[in-house]
Amino acid sequence: MFNLLDYDLDALLAWFSELGEKPFRARQVMRWMHHEGCDDFDAMTNIAKTLRAKLKELAQIRAPALLQDSLSGDGTRKWLFDVGNANAVETVFIPEAGRGTLCVSSQAGCSLDCAFCATGKQGFNRNLTTGEIIGQLWLANRLLGAAAADDNEEDNGRIISNVVLMGMGEPLANFDNVVAALRVMLDDHAYGLSRRRVTVSTVGIVPAIDRLREECPVALAVSLHAPDDALRDHLMPINRKYPLRDLMAACQRYLERAPRDFVTFEYVMIDGVNDSDAHARALIALTRDVPCKFNLIPFNPFPHSGFARSPAERIRRFAGLLLDSGVVATTRKTRGGDVAAACGQLAGQVRDKTRRSGVCTLHTMEEVFS
Ligand code: SAH
Repeated sequence: MFNLLDYDLDALLAWFSELGEKPFRARQVMRWMHHEGCDDFDAMTNIAKTLRAKLKELAQIRAPALLQDSLSGDGTRKWLFDVGNANAVETVFIPEAGRGTLCVSSQAGCSLDCAFCATGKQGFNRNLTTGEIIGQLWLANRLLGAAAADDNEEDNGRIISNVVLMGMGEPLANFDNVVAALRVMLDDHAYGLSRRRVTVSTVGIVPAIDRLREECPVALAVSLHAPDDALRDHLMPINRKYPLRDLMAACQRYLERAPRDFVTFEYVMIDGVNDSDAHARALIALTRDVPCKFNLIPFNPFPHSGFARSPAERIRRFAGLLLDSGVVATTRKTRGGDVAAACGQLAGQVRDKTRRSGVCTLHTMEEVFS
């Protein structure tokens, strides 16, 4: 059975052509799937019955199964999805005034082993399929759509206005499936998001940044986290392969084709590790030739991480030094911490194995490790 969520428009057009169907039929199906959130071929009323029957026989529209739905006190919502073989991934919806951001996972686990990240600690399981990546958006839209209709019948606005690939995994290590999913996000027959509102976040895999620039330029965020190679080698092993000088050059090349005229540098603030005045000055020097904005992320603790969050005053001073040198620096508000939905806390735990129940009993990371 084909899962039509695996298909971007070009792939669907190719498949319809093999079936001897006209291109406009593929576009209709795309719209039913992604505009209407429809997974039932019988409900696609403007499609001929014979084609519907054929589609039913050959294909399905299947998002990952929902295991858990947690709502944080601050409105952040986290979903846990089953991706088979006891693997689960997490998706987080962050509502803010005037926009709603969906944070999507691209891999089950992660192989990059950044020292400060909970996802890295669980190791790498596998790449998500295109259908599993786009399925997170598809299902979130359905779940939020239903919720909005309950709360406010007049709210027909777009609930998810931005997508960030900042969940579990390294998007550029799952390049082909991620790019196909990006194309569906951007396609007017599907989600129609602007390239500026779709962000890929990467540890800095240099050749893949160049490929993304060629194949599907969207907004780029780079996890920097250290101003020099010695410290970055230690925090992010990928740096040994693609050191800072190469990474900065790749960012400059990316900007030639990017939908935004800056790269976002993410910088996790870890107490006593990368948060001194000297680190801030070195960062300013490092990024002098790259138009950029900094997003400082207060370290989100998880058990046995061995790190602590920089004090608020230290973060303010660090941001102040960047701002004084003319670099825009914002500090990310920590959200969803009470449901372990904050950056670096996504571990995709399915269940507490110490309990007998087969259903998901887990609500917070604290429960997993206690
Ligand atoms: N692999 C990609 C996508 C993950 S995005 C990347 O690294 O960019 C998740 C962001 O949260 C990254 O910037 C990551 O470095 C950061 N992060 C990881 N662990 C964190 C933690 N414990 N606290 C705060 N931020 C963390």
